[in-house]
Amino acid sequence: MNGLDGNTAVVTGAASGIGRESARRFAEEGANVVVADIDVTADRETVDLIEDAGGNATFAEVDVSDSKSVERMVDVAVDTYGSLDFAHNNAGILTGFSGVTDITDEQWERIIAINLKGIWTCMKAELPVMERQGGGAIVNTASEAGLVGMGGLSSYSASKHGVVGLTKSAALEYASRDIRINAIAPGPTKTNIQSGLLSGTGESSIPLLNRIGMAVDLVRMAIRTIRADYDTSAMRDVPMDRIAEPEEMAGAVAFLCSSDASYITGHTLPVDGGQAVD
Ligand code: NAD
Repeated sequence: MNGLDGNTAVVTGAASGIGRESARRFAEEGANVVVADIDVTADRETVDLIEDAGGNATFAEVDVSDSKSVERMVDVAVDTYGSLDFAHNNAGILTGFSGVTDITDEQWERIIAINLKGIWTCMKAELPVMERQGGGAIVNTASEAGLVGMGGLSSYSASKHGVVGLTKSAALEYASRDIRINAIAPGPTKTNIQSGLLSGTGESSIPLLNRIGMAVDLVRMAIRTIRADYDTSAMRDVPMDRIAEPEEMAGAVAFLCSSDASYITGHTLPVDGGQAVD
């Protein structure tokens, strides 16, 4: 990818899944990477993976729902590498299946705080630095659930629709200042977030059978994720008949940050095996 080498990227949610692969990809492209996550132990493992492969990475502990914590993360980038050129605001959670009337106040506030407010806190801290430098590029992680509704996942879907709107509006504000802001909308991707959904580690107030009834397609995908066993006959809802690897999200993020995407801003790119085409 053009324009990544020698620049600095921050990636949130970099301890696992899509964020880890995004951080690794930035490093492979020659960028310095601030590897940021609330999970300190796994986050350090990402730094080790990058350094073992010959890349440059620095660890930052962050809780994206906390503005002060996010400001410290951005300071790590500037203090360590002298700039902040790219940001992949990616940290997110997916709680268990719940009907609209079963979601508790606490569940609602937590998912909005991390998935939506967390994108805003990051951009609020990153944009002034990029503006002082004279440019930059941001990619926010939305979801297929930010483009279409998903029964049983209304709080998650609402948070991700919010990310799409926030991305569009921020992009308009910064378009003339040489800062591009886009989002990706991953389809089902083989990460911990999907395994947690099916195994019930996410919060849920609805019995398993009902949850399956409400979101049978997602459950099928999650089963494929855990078993890593692709019976494509059950995957008709993804035209490419498979779940994505997190590396495939990282490629889209690198492209949107690169100078190859120099005239693209305000868009949410579905990276979903054709799922959004239907
Ligand atoms: P993941 O669980 O592997 O990674 C999420 C990371 O976010 C974890 O490392 C976790 O520690 C971190 N995190 C959670 N809360 C945080 C907080 N408050 N502050 C900082 N870090 C925090 O899951 P993933 O699939 O890689 O998820 C990455 C993003 O992709 C999320 O925004 C998710 O909603 C989105 N997404 C995933 C899929 C999928 O199928 N995997 C599909 C669509 C969208």
